Amino acid sequence: MLNIALDGPSGSGKSTIAKALSSKLNILYLDTGAMYRACALKAHYLGVDCKNQEEVDKIVDDISVTVQYVDGAQRTFLDGEDVSTKIRENVISLKASAISAHMSIRKKLVELQREIASQTDCVLDGRDIGTNVLPNAKYKFYVTASLEVRTDRRYKELIEKGQTVEYDKLKEEIALRDYNDSHREFAPLKQAEDAIYVDTSNMSIDEVIAKILSYLE
Ligand code: C5P
Repeated sequence: MLNIALDGPSGSGKSTIAKALSSKLNILYLDTGAMYRACALKAHYLGVDCKNQEEVDKIVDDISVTVQYVDGAQRTFLDGEDVSTKIRENVISLKASAISAHMSIRKKLVELQREIASQTDCVLDGRDIGTNVLPNAKYKFYVTASLEVRTDRRYKELIEKGQTVEYDKLKEEIALRDYNDSHREFAPLKQAEDAIYVDTSNMSIDEVIAKILSYLE
């Protein structure tokens, strides 16, 4: 199977790049962050503290996360409900980062991600695809950008979706999420040794895609 691993911090442009690659190469795009977000949403519904391991471990077996593709786009389901829009709310972002630190959650989702990747050509974006989920992926990229550029992008995206956000608070939240994601015990965010590093701070999305495609070719 052709598997392309795209890792990096939030707002680095991973999902835009992954979408463009998947449509250019006609392969699936698996957004693994959406799966962690769906678990966080379940905890949110149940009033479970995402930081509390005991509480999280108690609900893991009751969480059912699945993905389906509608017109080539991923829809993410939680217990049979399409939660693709709800999981994008900013309040879920920090909760997703907190819940993703627990081994029980990662084990469950990584299994599902490996199963999908073993059956289908796909581009996966996340934090640990190249280091942990698919260490043997043929192509690996680590995509990043400065905190300012990433905050600008995220802010624009949320405002376009009609969400209310304060710029400085968002910047702090992104920095906190980066810190949590790269300092956690299990599968922290880091560049795989054999991943190609792409800093997108001063590049347009078309330039980034052209650069990545040039490596694939
Ligand atoms: O990519 P996105 O921002 O939607 O991911 C939400 C959160 O899910 C991240 O902050 C990270 O904590 C977690 N995540 C992860 N491993 C992945 C993908 C996402 O830990 N492969």
